[in-house]
Amino acid sequence: MKLPAEVKVPSIPVVDKVSLPAKSTALIVVDMQNDFAHPNGKLYGPSSREIIPTIRALIDKARRAGVRVIYTQDTHYPDDPVEFPIWGPHVVKGTWGWQIVDELKPAEGDVVIEKMRYDAFFGTPLDHVLRMYGVRQLVVVGTVANICVLHTVASARLRLYDVVVPVDAVAALTEFDYVAALRQMDYLYKATLTLSSGVEFA
Ligand code: ZN
Repeated sequence: MKLPAEVKVPSIPVVDKVSLPAKSTALIVVDMQNDFAHPNGKLYGPSSREIIPTIRALIDKARRAGVRVIYTQDTHYPDDPVEFPIWGPHVVKGTWGWQIVDELKPAEGDVVIEKMRYDAFFGTPLDHVLRMYGVRQLVVVGTVANICVLHTVASARLRLYDVVVPVDAVAALTEFDYVAALRQMDYLYKATLTLSSGVEFA
C-alpha cells in the first residue's frame, strides 16, 4: 500500500486570548535542554532554539503573576533500551546535554521533574506535585511538539487538567510533525491552542 505523499491539513483553531487564574495555573516547560535546543546538542533542532525567547517571556510573565513554573528534564541512564535504539544516546544524566539551556535556567525553588519517557507524568511525581499546589490549569511549552509535549499534554488531559498550548512556544523537527501534533492536541485532547502573547494570568 502506498500512503499519500501530500495531505490536506484540516483547520486547527488558534484562539486570540486565554485568561487563566494565576493561583491554580502552572507553566510547564518541557525538555528545554542543551541536547535538544543548543547547536552542539545531540538531537538539536533549530526550531527548538528559536522558541527560547518566547518561552523566556512567558516564564517572566508567569513569575510576575505568581504562576508556578515547573520544568521537565528528559533524563536517561546509560544504555536506555527504549529510546537509545531510536534516537541514539541523549540527555544522559549529569552530562552537559542534559542541562536545561542557560537562557531558561530554573530559579531557586522551582520544581524540576526528571522524566525518563515522553510523557512527563509517567513514573514521575508530576501529578502529585500539581495536586499538592492546587493546580488545575496547565500552560505547556517546549520541545519536541509531537513527542514529549504531545504525550505530556495527552496525559494531562486524561488526568482532567485544563491545558493551554501557545503554538509559538512549541517546536518540532519538521513542519508535518508540528502540525500533526497541534491537530492531536486540539481535536483529540481538547487542549486550547493560542499564541503566547494571548496567554493572560488573572
Ligand atoms: Zn529522551
